[in-house]
Amino acid sequence: MNFEKIVKQVRKKYKTEVAVREDERSVFLTGECDNWADVVAIGKMFVTEGKHVVNDIRLKGYVEKPERLPKVSDNSLDGTDWDVVVIGGGISGCAVARELTRNKLRVLLVEKHSDVARGASGANNGMVHAGIDLKHQCLKLKYGVAGNAIYGDVCKELGVDFRRSGQYVIFDSRLIRFFAKGTVKRAEKHGIPGVRIVGKKEIAEIEPRVKDFAVGALYAPSTGYVSPYQLTIAYAENAVQNGAKVSLNTAVTALETENGNVTRVKTNRGTVTARCVVNCAGVFADRIADMAGDRYFSIHPRRGTDLMLDPKAQGVPTQTISMGPTLKSVSKFGSGSTKGGGVIRTADGNYLLGPDAVEIPDREDVSTNQDSVNNVFGKHSQVCPTLRRGDIIAYFSGVRAPTYEEDFIIERSAKVANLVHVAGIQSPGITAAPAFAKDVAKIVADYLASVGVEVLPNERFDPVRPRPVKAKYLNDEERDKLIKQDPDFGKIICRCEEISLGEIKRAIHNPLGVATVDGVKRRVRAGMGRCQGGFCMPLVTDIIAKETGVDVTEVTKDDVGSNIVVGKLKEVQQ
Ligand SMILES: Cc1cc2nc3c(=O)[nH]c(=O)nc-3n(C[C@H](O)[C@H](O)[C@H](O)COP(=O)(O)OP(=O)(O)OC[C@H]3O[C@@H](n4cnc5c(N)ncnc54)[C@H](O)[C@@H]3O)c2cc1C
Repeated sequence: MNFEKIVKQVRKKYKTEVAVREDERSVFLTGECDNWADVVAIGKMFVTEGKHVVNDIRLKGYVEKPERLPKVSDNSLDGTDWDVVVIGGGISGCAVARELTRNKLRVLLVEKHSDVARGASGANNGMVHAGIDLKHQCLKLKYGVAGNAIYGDVCKELGVDFRRSGQYVIFDSRLIRFFAKGTVKRAEKHGIPGVRIVGKKEIAEIEPRVKDFAVGALYAPSTGYVSPYQLTIAYAENAVQNGAKVSLNTAVTALETENGNVTRVKTNRGTVTARCVVNCAGVFADRIADMAGDRYFSIHPRRGTDLMLDPKAQGVPTQTISMGPTLKSVSKFGSGSTKGGGVIRTADGNYLLGPDAVEIPDREDVSTNQDSVNNVFGKHSQVCPTLRRGDIIAYFSGVRAPTYEEDFIIERSAKVANLVHVAGIQSPGITAAPAFAKDVAKIVADYLASVGVEVLPNERFDPVRPRPVKAKYLNDEERDKLIKQDPDFGKIICRCEEISLGEIKRAIHNPLGVATVDGVKRRVRAGMGRCQGGFCMPLVTDIIAKETGVDVTEVTKDDVGSNIVVGKLKEVQQ
């Protein structure tokens, strides 16, 4: 392709020079820009059918922060040999590891943080998208629709709550209704069930809080909700139940290749060997590819901020409401930067507003700021004026991992035979993971068989991960019985979320061996209520110390080094 025309356009619009080189798989860009939004916008201008963009345009004066790596180093994995090493403990890596254990394979999953679901999989909306905004012929559509269809079954097996509550995408103008008819037709063609247009009167009845704004809505009944980190944890636990090893606080630092194969995987816990390596490293997936000499795509980090509202908040829509495209933005509907987010009732009963979408140079920048909070609240309170700022109890940000082509990459590397990339897993990654994980496991099994490894079914594979007890949802009789069996279920530690000592103890003794305050929080929600852990955090810290037999000063909030208690002032005799 002749890129000269685009280079000229860049020169005119962005007043900068870009050098372009291409090979059979990718278009490589170099140059320099004054702001990051321009770097990303220029990268997008070079997206070409059948090729990936590798964008090395630098941001003037920007010094990249060093990647956060675990503050531990030992040889606990050194010299071990595996059939498959999975890099990354987000939903992609954990779902892939679980699906791999359907066969008798020695599977190692490494995650650089102290728990799984610490990347995008722990900081997103948990919406199981219907897929109405997705374009034709992309992997996001293929796996998004397939993932949505099997969500109920997967969550049942893994003991995770899932609600198929439907979603209303609100329009503010009659003209948009015209475009919406096209969306309904497309949804039918893509096999998305039950999508229809809801009129002004009907939407006002269903959701009176949006009545002045809405002239109608698109209704997608197959949209659902899940706790994304609880599902990721469940996948990881089920993988462990079925024989996989999950090594936390373990970062891949280098990949050694020989004759077009990864031969050694270097980590902070020693060097391991593997027949096959699966790259599920989220925002670092292009870096992992680069470690293997296989850099053919770029990830441009895109941060999204969400606001969490008190579950007792009044004036919040009872239905899931998303702002549809406006007249200004309709041409961008489905363009990939954000699905527009919405007002969402989460699987845990909280409300979320958001997210927004901001391109950022730092892959691990999960900070929140006033602009994002104002934008998110402003956008959604426009649709639903009864929302109150005072009901916001927390903010969080997550970073999406899009490629410039805005689609998933799920394939075996063309250059490194035993490397499989699961990259560019932006939204709807939570929705799609259950479906693509099955295909990735097949790609791996087919490859291993092709190089003479005997891949036999794991007869002891058990798809069921026991559902953790949630005492507050039991009726009086059931709760009574449980407390009689174990009185710890009658001692409430987190008052906001009504979490008992019994639940916390079980969370501490989870199959992954996570004994951090945030690890407990992600498993049972202790500290996720209105007071955000102000009351229960010291208690949980103490329980972890007692249950794991360490001094309270050794208990961390999250990653190694995040100790909560630094020393003791006075010892009180009890
Ligand atoms: C704000 C926001 C809202 C979203 N909302 C939705 C939604 O409602 N529905 C939906 O379907 N999708 C949503 N998404 C998208 C979804 O969250 C992601 O697609 C999905 O979580 C990606 O999962 P992953 O496992 O590929 O990546 P991640 O969850 O980021 O996991 C990658 C893991 O790799 C680890 N890692 C990286 N490098 C290394 C290394 N060298 N060694 C070891 N480990 C490493 C990281 O620590 C990380 O844990 C949203 C995303 C964001 C940010």
